[in-house]
Amino acid sequence: MDVTITCPECGSGIHVVPNQAAVAAKCEICQHVVDVQFTSEHEQAKLCQCPVCARKDFYQQKDFNRKIGVTLFVIAAITSIWTYGLSFVALWLVDLVLFKKLGSIAICYKCQTIFRKVSNIGEIRPFDHEMNDRVIYADHDFKGKPLSH
Ligand SMILES: [Zn+2]
Ligand SMILES: [Zn+2]
Repeated sequence: MDVTITCPECGSGIHVVPNQAAVAAKCEICQHVVDVQFTSEHEQAKLCQCPVCARKDFYQQKDFNRKIGVTLFVIAAITSIWTYGLSFVALWLVDLVLFKKLGSIAICYKCQTIFRKVSNIGEIRPFDHEMNDRVIYADHDFKGKPLSH
């Protein structure tokens, strides 16, 4: 499993590999030190608890590079003038191919830590706006349980 911690100070990504001996990760940009706590589950690529904030609420999404997506969309929009919209069809095809190749990643609702190559990714649910709002604005801890009404 690859872990990318979002630096709480400057927002940079801090890459770490799970290691029970590690107790902190340092941001190379602003030198901020983030406490981490890895378990043997993390070392086995199993995601049950966040090593940074100790929460158990995660969502999964495609590992899609948003900057590339936006750039492609802009190119398609500009060239559509000359291609009579055909560039959007091309973009749609590129999207289709790209999305098939992309893996899924898990993200912590609370601290935005990103987890790649997670073995139990199938157990993690897609993004839920209501859960996100309650975790971020109300500091609610779902303890890994899905939202129920
Ligand atoms: Zn930083
Ligand atoms: Zn977290």
